Amino acid sequence: MYLLYYVGILMQTTLRRTLSDVRALAELKPSVRLVKGIYLEPPEVAYQDFEAVRASFVTALQALLDADCYVGIATHDEWLLREGRRLVAEHGLERDEYEFQMLLGVTPALGDELVREGHRLRIYVPFGRHWYEYSLRRLQENPKIAGYIAGDTLGRLVGRRNGAVG
Ligand SMILES: Cc1cc2nc3c(=O)[nH]c(=O)nc-3n(C[C@H](O)[C@H](O)[C@H](O)COP(=O)(O)OP(=O)(O)OC[C@H]3O[C@@H](n4cnc5c(N)ncnc54)[C@H](O)[C@@H]3O)c2cc1C
Repeated sequence: MYLLYYVGILMQTTLRRTLSDVRALAELKPSVRLVKGIYLEPPEVAYQDFEAVRASFVTALQALLDADCYVGIATHDEWLLREGRRLVAEHGLERDEYEFQMLLGVTPALGDELVREGHRLRIYVPFGRHWYEYSLRRLQENPKIAGYIAGDTLGRLVGRRNGAVG
């Protein structure tokens, strides 16, 4: 029995340097997980504006697909999910030449929609003995997440959560 390991890299589109990193690495055709980026960084190194981060995501995704890289499009942003679908279609990619990725429990209805349409979706699960410390560290790094969690939880309680069954 053979075990196949693969190594990929993560790119954060909040960072101003990401497009030049894509260009520098393109020749190696890396497998890339593309995210907005959770860390709060200063304006010298990172876009602070929501729309600028979105635009940077689209530009980086376009450049990665132009370079024939395998991309994990890791976002729950509905607008970016639409842009991701558009770019994948424009590049004529087969189902196994890219994937979408989401965090466990986040926007499940959007994930279901992708799968129904025939896209592949990988779900990210923090796993291991230190999952709690890891989650706490993420919260400390970007308190915005607390708002997301509160919103999602409230949505579940009042039964408005997308994808909820019963
Ligand atoms: C598979 C995967 C791996 C990741 N790995 C990394 C990493 O290694 N390094 C890194 O810096 N960032 C990582 N991230 C986080 C990423 O950088 C973003 O911070 C996160 O995905 C939120 O951005 P968004 O594109 O979903 O858009 P947003 O506009 O921020 O979010 C869209 C909507 O999704 C929901 N949402 C988003 N995040 C959460 C959450 N945590 N909890 C509850 N609801 C949420 C909210 O409803 C929000 O309105 C990862 C994300 C994914 C999906």
